[in-house]
Amino acid sequence: MSDKLSGPVQWRHPPANRWLYCPTCQTGLVDQIWDGVSRRYCPHCGFVYWERPLPAVAAVISHPDAADQVVLVKRRYPPEQGEWTLPGGGIEAGESSIDAAIREAREETGLIIVVDSQLGTWSTPNYETIITFYRSHPVGGQLEAGTDAVEARWFMVGQTPRLAFSTHQDALERFRGNLNQELP
Ligand SMILES: [Zn+2]
Repeated sequence: MSDKLSGPVQWRHPPANRWLYCPTCQTGLVDQIWDGVSRRYCPHCGFVYWERPLPAVAAVISHPDAADQVVLVKRRYPPEQGEWTLPGGGIEAGESSIDAAIREAREETGLIIVVDSQLGTWSTPNYETIITFYRSHPVGGQLEAGTDAVEARWFMVGQTPRLAFSTHQDALERFRGNLNQELP
């Protein structure tokens, strides 16, 4: 992604009632019941706006010598600009979720990671995204803030700042809980 942005970036889908015109033929959309749910429908070309969360991933990257240290990144762009999160982002078309996690980690932290296991999948409270978190560790690269981050660094898992998104906070707390169970 280019880091020379001239305007705001809106990656969230607006709610269904704000979809007024068909994105392909510009006819006014109408409400139509599908599976018991009212959806925005184009009576001209048949376009249906399926209101679904955008798929995303994030990585909990553990230090190879100290599993209780993880990488956080400080966000370069809104929303929550300047706040800390786990490295992650949207899954591109045709990409597997694991490949997306590996790519996002490389882009945001400079680290080449290997995914160890799936930590869990959460929907954001506003249903905008559905995000899968992976446990991982680095096998190469150099830690440095990438395209979407202004800073990337290791934190002790018990001493992390409050993360920008509740899903990231929940995932990190599950990671910490699992870690405590594994430690002797
Ligand atoms: Zn249409």
